[in-house]
Amino acid sequence: MGKIVRALSAEGGVLCSAIDSTDMVREMARLHGASPVVTAALGRMTTAVSIMGAMLKYEGDTLTLRINGGGPCGTLTAVSDYRGNVKCCAGDPNANAPDVETAVGTDGSLTVVKDMGLKEPYIGQIPLVSGNIAEEITAYYSVSEQLPTVCALGILFDDGGGVSAAGGYMVQVVPPISEQSVKVLDENLKKMNSVQQMLEQRLDPSDIALSALSGLGGEILDSWEARYYCDCSRERTERVLISLGKKELARLAEEQEETEVCCHFCNKKYRFTAGEMLKLLKE
Ligand SMILES: [Zn+2]
Repeated sequence: MGKIVRALSAEGGVLCSAIDSTDMVREMARLHGASPVVTAALGRMTTAVSIMGAMLKYEGDTLTLRINGGGPCGTLTAVSDYRGNVKCCAGDPNANAPDVETAVGTDGSLTVVKDMGLKEPYIGQIPLVSGNIAEEITAYYSVSEQLPTVCALGILFDDGGGVSAAGGYMVQVVPPISEQSVKVLDENLKKMNSVQQMLEQRLDPSDIALSALSGLGGEILDSWEARYYCDCSRERTERVLISLGKKELARLAEEQEETEVCCHFCNKKYRFTAGEMLKLLKE
């Protein structure tokens, strides 16, 4: 289980969300058999999207974070529900590169899709600059949502290449806040260790959230557990197959005895016999 903690400043304008995403990132790496550099990249996406999703208001709302930088790991996609439960996938989970920035690439964009049950989802997009995921997300919020934000993410590996700890935090400022508070916050952020160092010190997300709000009368607002989950099912897979259209279904039924559909987010396989495919044709 991951743990999300949110703290709010006394005057209410500064929110810090911090997360221990160790278990979620481990599960992500296990399900995808991800290489270390993809674990580092997709693990950061997992951590960030959980915090971002947790800011949604209603059950059923989802937030999708997509980074398509043209690097060897391909498109990275991470989806969160309104409680910060996450699923994600990479174009090539086995990709290798000397560092996350190279694995991600900078030839492309970062896209955020918020589906809040309205007719059209909200879509925001910015061009990538550095391939550093935390920096790109920070830029996204200030450019696309005009919400001053600081995002920091980190993953710690053990000697065997396994994930020993993962986490991050996001500080957001919702005006109006006093000039004095802005100064204090700036000082706090300058003084704060990197997430990597905080993970090494085994800091709890509540310690991290409160240290960002030090001197601002910060108090814990709420905290709960989140996990890596996939909501795929046979019924959903059937709907995807039906959406391919009758012609394609008929072709698949004719060409192969069994059609296998693999979920990109959890690698679960759903098999449909030619007979079952023909049955779907009639729906
Ligand atoms: Zn799945």
